[in-house]
Order: sequence, then C-alpha cells, then structure tokens
Amino acid sequence: MTETKETGKIERRYPPRFDLIAGNVCLDFVNTLDDRHIHDGHTKPKELLKTYPDLLHFGEDTGLLNSGQVDRLRRRSDVDPLGAQEVLEWSRELREAIHDVFWATMNKRPVPPAALGKVNVDAQGAASHMSLVAIERGPKKGGFEWTYDDFSLFDSVLWPIARAAANLLASDQLAYVRACSSEDCEWFFLDTSKNHHRRWCDMTRCGNRAKFQRFYARKKKITS
Ligand SMILES: [Zn+2]
Repeated sequence: MTETKETGKIERRYPPRFDLIAGNVCLDFVNTLDDRHIHDGHTKPKELLKTYPDLLHFGEDTGLLNSGQVDRLRRRSDVDPLGAQEVLEWSRELREAIHDVFWATMNKRPVPPAALGKVNVDAQGAASHMSLVAIERGPKKGGFEWTYDDFSLFDSVLWPIARAAANLLASDQLAYVRACSSEDCEWFFLDTSKNHHRRWCDMTRCGNRAKFQRFYARKKKITS
C-alpha cells in the first residue's frame, strides 16, 4: 500500500533546491541537515531548513505540496511567523528523531526510545488527518486512496514525511536503508539496486570523488 498520493509528473516552478537522491522522502528529509556526522573539530552541520519557507520548498521539490498549497502556506506564515517558526522547530525535531532511529538500526544499536516515541507521535498525528476516498477518474477508478484533509495547516507538509518514516520502518525495505560510504557525506538513501550493493548517495556527488581519491592515493604511492 502506498499512502503517498501518486502525483505523477511534478509540476515545477523552479529548478529543485534540494538534492533528492534518497529514494524515499523521509530519508531525503534526514539529509536536510548536511555534514551531520563529521566530527573533525571544525566542520559544523549545515542546516538546509533555515526558515519555514525552506520547509515549503522541500515540500514543493518532493511533490508533497503543490504550488497553490505552498503559496497559501507562505502567505499564512507571513501573517503568523511565530506559528510557522514553531512548526519549523518541530520539523527539525522530527527529522533528528527519524535520523536517530534509522542510524541506530543501521548500526545495530539500541533504538533511542525518545526518538521512536517522537516518530510514533507524529505518525499517529498524521494518521488522524488521513481519510480514504474513492477514486473517480483515471485508470485507478473504482479504487480508493489515502488523502490528507487540510493542507492549510503549517504542519501538513510533515504528515506524509512521518507516515513515510513509519511505513519504511515497518517494511522489509528497512534492511536496505544505508548511509553513503563517503565519510564526509553519510547521506541516507534506500538501496533499491538489484544486488543491494549501492555504496554512494550519488555516483557524481560521492562515487566519482572517492574513485579519484583512490586513484591519486595509488599514484602518489607509486611515484613517491
Ligand atoms: Zn554521498
């Protein structure tokens, strides 16, 4: 069952502002805190969700929100900046909770109860906004789909993210959630490759760089 409405081709007003490489929206969401795992003493994690409109951009890039919904929420956030800021902070908490649960699972460590609790609360909250509606048009006519009730609420963009995280955790795809092998990246992705041997978030971002580094390290060894 898919709970995320199939949006078909995403209508875009702008080129995407987020690198969506993960293959699942909740993992792309985790990657909105860049350089999270670098502990070299001077690199700080880079926050890509600095403002509430950044969160809306993420919603638009991923197709969770359409352009009309983004515009309405943006206008509302101009009128109620404190309300929007509160949801922005909440969204970062949800993101870190999703990260902590998957990170623990990937590393075969105990899952932090507070993180799982947060994912649960938000997934349950999201479910209370979902209803089944009959599909009346198109090839799926006669079937049903899950829809969300109210896209005028600041947190509506978070509902499908929390549901995606809960569904992925409860699925047999959990074993294929990985972090990029590049130590200065470690972005999360779902490895849907045939043999499940994908190591890089993206071949052009990290795979090629790693290849070059190995190549030059070898060359240096030979020439020195
Ligand atoms: Zn990477």
